[in-house]
Amino acid sequence: MWDALWINASLATMRDGRYSSIEDGVLAVANGRIAYVGPRADLPIAPERAASFVHDARGAWITPGLVDCHTHLVYGGSRAREFEMRLEGASYEDIARSGGGILSTMRATRDAAVADLLASARIRLDRLAAEGVTTCEIKSGYGLNCDTELKQLRVARALEASANVAIRTTLLAAHALPPEFSGRPDEYVALVTEEIIPAAARAGLADAVDAFCEHIAFTPEQTARVFEAARAHGLNVKLHADQLSDLGGAALAAHHHALSADHLEYTSEAGVAALARAGTVAVLLPGAFYFLREKQLPPIEALRRHHVPIAISTDCNPGSSPTTSILLMLNMACTLFRLTPEEALAGTTIHAARALGLAEDRGVLAVGRRADFALWAVASPGELAYAMGANPLVSVVRGGR
Ligand SMILES: [Zn+2]
Repeated sequence: MWDALWINASLATMRDGRYSSIEDGVLAVANGRIAYVGPRADLPIAPERAASFVHDARGAWITPGLVDCHTHLVYGGSRAREFEMRLEGASYEDIARSGGGILSTMRATRDAAVADLLASARIRLDRLAAEGVTTCEIKSGYGLNCDTELKQLRVARALEASANVAIRTTLLAAHALPPEFSGRPDEYVALVTEEIIPAAARAGLADAVDAFCEHIAFTPEQTARVFEAARAHGLNVKLHADQLSDLGGAALAAHHHALSADHLEYTSEAGVAALARAGTVAVLLPGAFYFLREKQLPPIEALRRHHVPIAISTDCNPGSSPTTSILLMLNMACTLFRLTPEEALAGTTIHAARALGLAEDRGVLAVGRRADFALWAVASPGELAYAMGANPLVSVVRGGR
């Protein structure tokens, strides 16, 4: 006997990154894992004799639970006023003078009590969960000192206990240069590699280490030092790469066998080929592209040609992508980047799981995978990307519950 079974459903299994649909399908779970996926006609016995509970999906489509593989959703303060000022004509200098920008988020995050960080992040995470997200990655990167980076990671870990979402944490201490190290970036990188990474690893607070490789952040050489320290502590790496210029970030990420290289607007063909060779996932972030009104499109055709797995994520953050809608990102991946709805859904399931090192565990509907899935009131899975602003979620199952 299985624990539970769903009938009257169509299944988008996302096997091999395709819908791989099963009409009139059955999905069964046992011990928190998927125990059966297939057409009802192939079920050897009557559903009510196969499982303790039989759920009628009433014609819903079932997809794997969505995976948001790149967020910065634990932070203090708000940048809404900054958004307003910019639209009222303020320059970047005006905003910086009035205390805006990433350093305002740093200050607010340093000052915030753990309970307040937890409460504000919980609201954002609940919004993602309400759109079928069952696994979410959360980065630090607004502390820029050891105590606050670890505080952010602890809050991220604590969210898993209270919200109905699995959390993966990423240490992003190399996000920006804190003001106390102004003009001394190498000394800050030394703090990251010699103090913050070891402390996060010792406390078991980070699943991976990320960095922002860009002319406004850290050089490829500094990024490489961060990656070497991460590897020395047994941590996977990821990279914010080639968002505003081509510093060879994708190739650098590939060289270090990064789980993912993210943004990639300015990545060259050679960078794409390097990602393909390394098996690194390309994470595209249409929310930031939209919010910053960027013009340079990521190299979609080259990514397809080289068979690089493409993931899509919210990049939920206060400065450049203040969104908590993964479904809107599916739409934007199609409208802005010209992905197909099938590619976009693969980008928030199978390929997003791979970007977190979870490819063998979740992201597809297949026997043995973690029983994370979402039921949707749609006539076809393409509707998830098509119906901008809609939320057709019926219910979510995580770990079989
Ligand atoms: Zn980001």
